[in-house]
Amino acid sequence: MAGVGRKPQRIVEAAVVDGIGPVTAHDLVAMPEDSWGLLRDRITDHRQGNEGLVARCLACDGSVYIRTARRRGVSLPLFAHYSGSDPSCPWYHGRNTVPDDARAAQYQGRQESDFHRLMCEQVAALVALDPRHVRHTVAEYLPPTETAHGRFPDVYVEWEGFGAFAVEFQMSSTFQTEISARCKHYEREGVPLLWILFGIDTKAQVQQSFIDVIRRHRGNAFVLDPLAVEASKEQRTLVLNCYLRSGDGFDPPKLVRFDELTIPRSKLPYHEDRIVTPLLAEIERRRRPWFSDLAKWDHSAPLHGLERPQSLLVAAAFSIVAAANGKERNYASGHPNIRAMLNTYLHAGTFGGYTDLLTRLIGNTAMAGLLKAKVGEHLHRHRSEAQADERSQEWSMLRHLLPEALDPVVREELRYLDALPAWASPE
Ligand SMILES: [Zn+2]
Repeated sequence: MAGVGRKPQRIVEAAVVDGIGPVTAHDLVAMPEDSWGLLRDRITDHRQGNEGLVARCLACDGSVYIRTARRRGVSLPLFAHYSGSDPSCPWYHGRNTVPDDARAAQYQGRQESDFHRLMCEQVAALVALDPRHVRHTVAEYLPPTETAHGRFPDVYVEWEGFGAFAVEFQMSSTFQTEISARCKHYEREGVPLLWILFGIDTKAQVQQSFIDVIRRHRGNAFVLDPLAVEASKEQRTLVLNCYLRSGDGFDPPKLVRFDELTIPRSKLPYHEDRIVTPLLAEIERRRRPWFSDLAKWDHSAPLHGLERPQSLLVAAAFSIVAAANGKERNYASGHPNIRAMLNTYLHAGTFGGYTDLLTRLIGNTAMAGLLKAKVGEHLHRHRSEAQADERSQEWSMLRHLLPEALDPVVREELRYLDALPAWASPE
C-alpha cells in the first residue's frame, strides 16, 4: 500500500456551486462558519439524493464536497473531490475514505453502542410518562409513507394531540452523510426529529460532527443529562437540557420541554434561533448608521466620505430597499417616488456605470416589477460600456450593506432557513 512518504496534498482551489457561482478556497475560508457549514450540509444532502446543492471542481468538473481540516484547533473548510473523481485533475488529492469502511470502524465502538442502548431506553421510559403517550418504539423499523425506504429511529413516539416525533442520538462518530440522510428522511415524512447529543463537552472544542447537528438545530445543542431526566420525571414529559450557541462557545444550559420547541419546515426543532436572529441583527447593525445619515442627507454633501455618484447610488439603493419594504422613501432626490428618481439619474448619465448593479439589486427585491416597466427600459438604454462589476468598490460596499439582496451566499442561507425577508424576495 502507498502511504510512505506522502506527497503534499493538493487542494481544490475553486468550485462552482449551483445558484451561487464560483467559490474559491479562499472565499470559503473567509466565510462565517454558519455559511460554509450550511453549504456543506446542503452539498451532502444533494449527494444523498435529497434536495440540496451541487458543487463542481473548477478544474475537472467533478463533484466536490466541503471537508474540514483542523489548523491550530480551528476547523477550516476546504473543497475535496468525492471518491471516484478523475485522478488526472490537477487538484486531485488522492483516495477518500470509503464510507462503508468508515462505518465498519464506527461500529467497532462497542462501548459506545452499549451506552446508546441505555440512552434509548431512558428516553423511552420518559416519553411514556406523558399522559398523551400513545405508543413508542425503540430501534424498530418504521415503514415510510412518502419514500421508498423506511428507517430505524432510535426512539419513535406518538403523542395524542401532538403527533409523532423521532429521537436520534448523535454519537461522536456519526457521519455527516448519516446525519443528512436522517434529517432529510424525517423532513419528507413530516416527523419532527430531535438529535440528542451524546458525549458532548461544551467547554472544550466541540467536534465537527456535533457542530453539524447543532447548526441543523439552529445553534441548539440538546442533551439528556441527569438534570433533564429529573425535570422530565417531575413534569411528566420529555425535558432536555439545551445549550445555546453564543459566539465560539455556549450559554449556560436551559431546561426546555420538548412540546414547547419551535418546529420549522426542516422539522428540526429549536428553542431559540441562534443562527438567523444574530445574522439579521448583525446586518441591521451595519446598516443603521447609513439609514440615519441618509434620513438627514441633502443629496449633495459627500455621504460617509463618498464621491457624489457613489453617494447617490447608496441613497438610491436604500430607497429601493425602503420601497421593497413597503415604506417608500426617496433618500436620493426630491422626486415624489423612486421611479422618477431612478429615471432622472439614469437619463442624466449619473448611474450609467451602475446599471448592472441596480438591475441585480432591483431584480432581487419585491420591486423586481420595475424592471419590466419604464425603469427597466432606462436601465437598458442608459447603460455605459464601463460597469462597476462584482469586484468593484461600489458593488462590494452594497453587498456588505444589503446582503439579503446582493450576497448570493447569504441569500441562499436565508432562503434555506425560511428567513429571506419579504423585501428581498421578488414577487
Ligand atoms: Zn478536480
